[in-house]
Amino acid sequence: MKKLSILGSTGSIGVSTLEIVAAHPERFQVVALTAGNNLELLQSQIERFSPRLAVVLNEQAARKLRASLAGSKTEILHGVPGLIAAATIAEAEMVVAAIVGAAGLVPTAAAIEAGKDVALANKETLVTAGHLIMAMVRDRGIRLYPVDSEHSAVFQSLQGHREKDVKRIILTASGGPFLNLPLARLEEVSITDALNHPNWSMGQKITIDSATMMNKGLEVIEARWLFNTPGERIAVNIHPQSIIHSMVEYVDGCVMAQLGVPDMKAPIAYALTYPGRVPTGVKPLDLTALSGLTFENPDYARFPALKLAYRALEEGESMPTVLNAANEVAVEAFLTGRISFARIPRIIETVMEYHQSHALATIEEVLYVDRWGREKTRELLGTA
Ligand code: NAD
Ligand code: MG
Repeated sequence: MKKLSILGSTGSIGVSTLEIVAAHPERFQVVALTAGNNLELLQSQIERFSPRLAVVLNEQAARKLRASLAGSKTEILHGVPGLIAAATIAEAEMVVAAIVGAAGLVPTAAAIEAGKDVALANKETLVTAGHLIMAMVRDRGIRLYPVDSEHSAVFQSLQGHREKDVKRIILTASGGPFLNLPLARLEEVSITDALNHPNWSMGQKITIDSATMMNKGLEVIEARWLFNTPGERIAVNIHPQSIIHSMVEYVDGCVMAQLGVPDMKAPIAYALTYPGRVPTGVKPLDLTALSGLTFENPDYARFPALKLAYRALEEGESMPTVLNAANEVAVEAFLTGRISFARIPRIIETVMEYHQSHALATIEEVLYVDRWGREKTRELLGTA
């Protein structure tokens, strides 16, 4: 019986994780759940899975939840201390890190520090603090399992191979909803258009990141840390069918790929049950029903955000933290109708130009730079 703490249980990844748990009650037990604003869903998850602890954003939400759960044995905490309590709860063997954004960093770091294995969906943790997190993973001797589908595909394609034989990692990208839109029309796309991803159903922030392809840029940085591979050896191929989830090319010219219908339940389950596998309910792949699998190089004129991420990775040190912070604020500004879609990469680039990259020695320093990046972006957007 694997005991799980699920951070961000009401999100897209959190809900899919609980579907896997529900399908295999003999294998998994939920000991902690955390959520942001969706109290109603959290309450139904508490009623269904009876965790020992549940965590919400603030005191008011905690009081409200306690009142509607009267008689329940679940303890309700709130805020960052609550998240840390959920991430370090004694009973949990594994923490599923599925909060969105840099807000996931502190609890994920706390889980590692407490010696928990981590199933990592929250890529922003590695983007903002990759070198510190990987050092903690090594020090504590814990396992960090990728949940991101591309990284799960790479992880699966690495099984049974030697790290030194890897030539390149090839991350695939769908290209999102604007892959074939005339470039001039990118200026005027609506929030609804940008949220309309062709292949994957995900949370709002990552869906916008997929449309700009910042998501793939964040994933290149994530892969750099997870697989100890420099950016020059991580390529991105646009593969609009999202059937090959990523590949590893070896020195002998052989390429290992992982294929499947695009459904996050497969990579989530692999992280939870590695090295075993369990049924997930994911539809079987029927290649004969597809007209073809295609691949192309990304066009940086269409996807400048991807190039910015490669640039941030090359500059290193604090630049990826700034890239990520500026992106989070810009995406939020787009989603609330304050800036156009095309302005997202432009504002990130400007914030990066203001920043002089420097080494980050602690999580506190990362948080400081993250705040600087957010404030600078808001100032430039006039929303400070
Ligand atoms: P989501 O927006 O659907 O869910 C995010 C969860 O985090 C929710 O439970 C929300 O309540 C909680 N949350 C948000 N802000 C918070 C805060 N400040 N403090 C505490 N909790 C907070 O997001 P998602 O799509 O499930 O993505 C989660 C993470 O997984 C992201 O880092 C994303 O990049 C990554 N990821 C997601 C997918 C996917 O298919 N959705 C695929 C690969 C990677
Ligand atoms: Mg991904």
